[in-house]
Amino acid sequence: MNGRIMIVEDERIVALDLRQTLESFGHEVVMVASSGEQAVADGPALKPDLVLMDIHLDGPMDGTQAACALQKHNIPVLFLTAFASQTVLDLAERSSPYGYLVKPVETRSLQATVRMALARRRAEREVEKGEERLRMAVDVAELGVWEWDAAEGNFIGEGRFESILGEVPDSLGDASSGFLARIEPDYRTPIADALVNGGAIRTTVKLREAPATGRNGWVDFHARAFAADGDMSRAIGVIRDVTAEREREERLRRAAVVFTSTGEGMAILDTAQRVISVNPAFERLTGFAEAEILERSPDDFLYARRRDDGFASRLNESESDYWCGEIACFHKDGNLFTAWQHLCVVRDAHGEVSNYVLALSDNGALRRAEAQINHLAYHDALTGLGNRNMLEDTIEREIERARQDASQFAVLFIDLDGFKLINDTMGHTTGDTLLTEIARRINRILRRTDTAIRIGGDEFVVVVPGVDRLEDCASLAEKLLCEIRAHVDLERERVSISASIGIALYPDNANDCSSLVQAADSAMYGAKERGRNRFAFYSNDMAERAMERLHIEQGLLRAIANEQLSLQYQPVVRLDDGQLVGFEALIRWDEPTHGRISPERFIPVAEECGLIDYIGGWVLRTACTQALQWIQNGFPTLRLAVNVSARQMNAEDFEDSVRDILDDTGFPPQQLELEITESTLQAVEHSRELLGRLKTLGLMISIDDFGTGFSSLSLLKHLPIDRIKIDRSFVTDLPDHPSNVAVTEAIIAMAYSLGHALIAEGVETPEQQQFLRARGCGEAQGFLFSRPLDVDDVNLLIALPRSGPLS
Ligand code: C2E
Ligand code: MG
Ligand code: MG
Repeated sequence: MNGRIMIVEDERIVALDLRQTLESFGHEVVMVASSGEQAVADGPALKPDLVLMDIHLDGPMDGTQAACALQKHNIPVLFLTAFASQTVLDLAERSSPYGYLVKPVETRSLQATVRMALARRRAEREVEKGEERLRMAVDVAELGVWEWDAAEGNFIGEGRFESILGEVPDSLGDASSGFLARIEPDYRTPIADALVNGGAIRTTVKLREAPATGRNGWVDFHARAFAADGDMSRAIGVIRDVTAEREREERLRRAAVVFTSTGEGMAILDTAQRVISVNPAFERLTGFAEAEILERSPDDFLYARRRDDGFASRLNESESDYWCGEIACFHKDGNLFTAWQHLCVVRDAHGEVSNYVLALSDNGALRRAEAQINHLAYHDALTGLGNRNMLEDTIEREIERARQDASQFAVLFIDLDGFKLINDTMGHTTGDTLLTEIARRINRILRRTDTAIRIGGDEFVVVVPGVDRLEDCASLAEKLLCEIRAHVDLERERVSISASIGIALYPDNANDCSSLVQAADSAMYGAKERGRNRFAFYSNDMAERAMERLHIEQGLLRAIANEQLSLQYQPVVRLDDGQLVGFEALIRWDEPTHGRISPERFIPVAEECGLIDYIGGWVLRTACTQALQWIQNGFPTLRLAVNVSARQMNAEDFEDSVRDILDDTGFPPQQLELEITESTLQAVEHSRELLGRLKTLGLMISIDDFGTGFSSLSLLKHLPIDRIKIDRSFVTDLPDHPSNVAVTEAIIAMAYSLGHALIAEGVETPEQQQFLRARGCGEAQGFLFSRPLDVDDVNLLIALPRSGPLS
């Protein structure tokens, strides 16, 4: 076994000899130093395996001193000297030399000693290396290593021990001053047990504050204790500072608790923006269970406005790794909800995206609060109706809309009659209850598009958009009056309060908010002056007419219900001999308070409100039933004329209803004549086909009030008409009025050429009769012959022998 050897020898010859000897054994002599200084200076760099050191050297440093210096560098020394006095040996011993040879040395002894020294050196190197490895491992693992020798009462702490604990205690098991003393009492037991019983232990303990440094924290404690007879003899172990990990874990644990318990819905996504995990709040908010959306992108199931709210677009739009804002989401059940969303990118230590986090908070509560605030700003606290703010907004909006659609809208001003009295006598609470009830009733009547507002005290305003007919407005006012008037049960009493309503219209009466309300207000005063419990339009003619029509409409409904309608029959006579040929049925309405109301007033209203279908059917059925009796009672050739209005004919089932009535009553169709006005012909689409179909039922058609419309000759020519009735207005002035004479003559000539029969209406004088007869008009009706007659009178008339003329 050869080594690298340094020789320290100041006698050159001896040194040379030594070198040759060593080299002859196969060793390498790395240096021959002639002084201690030189050896100490170059030795550490050369790192020889062994130094052969002379003790007496030239210069201030002798061999023993040099050996001590080299020993510090772990370089072993073998003394080779001529001296062996006690003093020199004592000095040499200090450097723990590998050997001591006294010159002169026999070559074989030298060889043997050098070999043994080198062998020992090698063994020591191995140990050193192992120790070094261990030290480095301990260092890398940031461990503190300790050992406790109970027998010697010796505690050693190495590595990071001191920096972890802040100090090295002088015992282990002593809870007052040792290592245990540094551990929080709750964590001591397992360690103390292991120390008593021996064995391995691994645990994590919490440190108390170190008195000297203030250090505390968490420590992983691994140890093995060796016990004999229940007494610990020795223990060895490592500690590691895990405070940072512990805090990280703690933070994670806290985050996990927050994640699962927060009310905010959270989803964690991978780099491809697919769901990795969601919290319970997210499941609650969206209705999706985690399993249903794992590995899916929120873009696929969450966002209602995918393009705008989509994950990537939102993050791209924000320049940072963070975006928040309101989004529209789909719930699993398909409903939409809005939420406040936080998006953020999670990056790793290298700045690469590792995750995305999406947090949703339901902002329904916020929205509700907002709505509540809005509601308060625009509503009356007592009744829940709108307040003045809303009034202004609503009217502005309606003005805008009415301008665009060229429509009109109404403002109704409602004031309760005598509310002050109730309020003063019954108390404000009762007054409030009453107002609330009235508000409820107003609201109940209105359409969804109408707006009710309480502008103060007992005053309400209703805005009614899209008013086509004033009658609708009037009827709404009437309904409101009626509803308000109904009694209210208050705490102790039942009261009834009426209201007065004024109505103003945009744009006819005013065209801005305040003047509209003012107009409605003054109309309301008009209603109060006329005796309260009524409504009034902001006055103008149109409004008055509307009221009249409304009264007629309501009256007609009552008339139908109370059977106040009846028929009269006006005889029709042949002009050449005055013989009775039949009757025209004319409707009569005898209104209990206003007396007889002319069909010329109520038929147009009935047409407008749709009652005509019912009334027309009733007339035809009644007249047919009645006239059939007369046919059967001695007037078999009787011709019955019944008026039909345009709207009636426009009904799809008109033809069917005529057929039904003929079938039901058994009236002979060939004796029935339907009177249709000229204007009806123009108003009814497909009148030609319709008349054709009616004719197939077997009945006759006559054109009523002829000459007042604008029928073209060609129209008349092609229509299946049987008779023309010359309008009364042309007959009146006959035979003195030249133009009426001309018109009448022209009509007669035309009817003659088209082959239509003729009746003249409103014949009152013999001169008229004479004139018409002379021109060849076949028939006539009028006061000259008879006024329209009640049924009884017709009965009498029919009972008479019909040989002579009627007039
Ligand atoms: P019309 O069909 O032209 O009826 C004739 C009208 O002239 C009747 O008025 C009749 O009373 C009146 N009259 C008859 N002879 C004379 C006369 O010599 N002098 C004057 N000044 N008037 C005379 P009435 O009953 O008031 O009916 C008016 C209109 O009402 C009718 O005109 C008809 O268009 C309509 N009408 C009446 N009854 C019905 C009905 O049942 N259904 C429909 N759709 N309309 C009806
Ligand atoms: Mg008529
Ligand atoms: Mg007529």
